[in-house]
Amino acid sequence: MHDENASKTLPWYRDGLRFKCTECGKCCTGSPGYVWVTEQEIDSMAKQIDLSVELFKRKYLRQRDNRYALAEKKSQNRDCIFLKDNKCTIYQARPAQCRTFPFWKENLNSEESWKLASEACEGIHDQAPLIPYSIIQELLER
Ligand code: SF4
Ligand code: SF4
Repeated sequence: MHDENASKTLPWYRDGLRFKCTECGKCCTGSPGYVWVTEQEIDSMAKQIDLSVELFKRKYLRQRDNRYALAEKKSQNRDCIFLKDNKCTIYQARPAQCRTFPFWKENLNSEESWKLASEACEGIHDQAPLIPYSIIQELLER
């Protein structure tokens, strides 16, 4: 039986959203911000580029309030330290914050915020594959 109350409480994107990453790299550059990383993610990234965790932290991270974030290049456009020729050089080990973009809470608050996200991310468009609601919720919880 269809539960009307349940469907009323589902968010506006209950039918899924269209997205496919083109790997354009635009979300890895441009605006100031932080890509926060956990110790486990640091471990995976260090392994991928064959560095000790200690050296990795020194070379590629910055510390804020007992948390670590990826460093930015010193260039004016503030590229992520791992962006090279518009590609992520640690793609297989990239942190959850990168893996889950653009399905971030602030982009899913309303249709309007999703539309704003689409202006910055070319992977969001009407011809892109439909990402089901269940997958979006999984990404949100990571
Ligand atoms: S801006 Fe969008 S399409 Fe481009 S790399 Fe980021 S997620 Fe992928
Ligand atoms: S780690 Fe990779 S995907 Fe994440 S911001 Fe840096 S370059 Fe982009």
